[in-house]
Amino acid sequence: MTGAAVLALREVTKTYGDVGALRGVSLDVAAGELVAVVGPSGSGKSTMLNIVGTLDRPTSGTVTIAGNDVATMSDDALSLLRADHIGFVFQHFHLQAGATAAENVADGLLYTATGRHERHRRAVDALGTVGLAHRVDHRPNQLSGGEKQRVAIARALVGDPTILLADEPTGALDTASGTAILELLRALNAAGTTVLVITHDLELAASLPRQVRMRDGRVEQDSGPDADGAPADAAALATAIRGGR
Ligand code: ADP
Repeated sequence: MTGAAVLALREVTKTYGDVGALRGVSLDVAAGELVAVVGPSGSGKSTMLNIVGTLDRPTSGTVTIAGNDVATMSDDALSLLRADHIGFVFQHFHLQAGATAAENVADGLLYTATGRHERHRRAVDALGTVGLAHRVDHRPNQLSGGEKQRVAIARALVGDPTILLADEPTGALDTASGTAILELLRALNAAGTTVLVITHDLELAASLPRQVRMRDGRVEQDSGPDADGAPADAAALATAIRGGR
């Protein structure tokens, strides 16, 4: 089931000097969707993620997140919007080495008006949600890659974001851990979280209900919201992408 629009991009461009990183991207994502943004290196995926995550502003076009037009917002207002609505997961986890799993997750609530004890309680809860109730006091160097990514996902989720943005979340993991992380993202989505996964892994992308294919700063193809959530055919997607080169 999908619901209200959580994200709308209209003719978004982003230019770095004379490089058009995004060259007119329009995209709508509704509440409850699980979307793969797929495309070769340099196609604009990271630039789009940064703009969707309000870490960067577009050169032109409009970006609406949970009904807020970001162009009209100050940097402070954008920080609040980010804290309220967006959870980030990165390829290399970005955990604090000296902090426990619970402390790392609690950091996800730092920019919200949540007291210290409540932050800890919710962090422990979120670690339970990702299957790490037994690793609350472990530090990153005591965790496997897959466990580190679960901590990062718990940190992204602890603030109950409108949308979870995952940038190559399985890119630094072995196949088994990567598969487990993807299953976790799927389960979180089934429980109601809207998820956007950036990947260059065609098989991963094809296993998700919707694929947005980027090329040269544009959306080359968008399979659109998939009512029954049926995964696409990986081989067909790979052929389509390679065939376009
Ligand atoms: P992807 O994530 O798909 O690999 P990117 O969004 O990183 O693609 O990059 C899209 C294009 O924009 C590339 O040509 C890249 O070199 C360029 N680009 C991205 N970020 C910058 C930047 N900060 N300065 C200059 N060029 C950039």
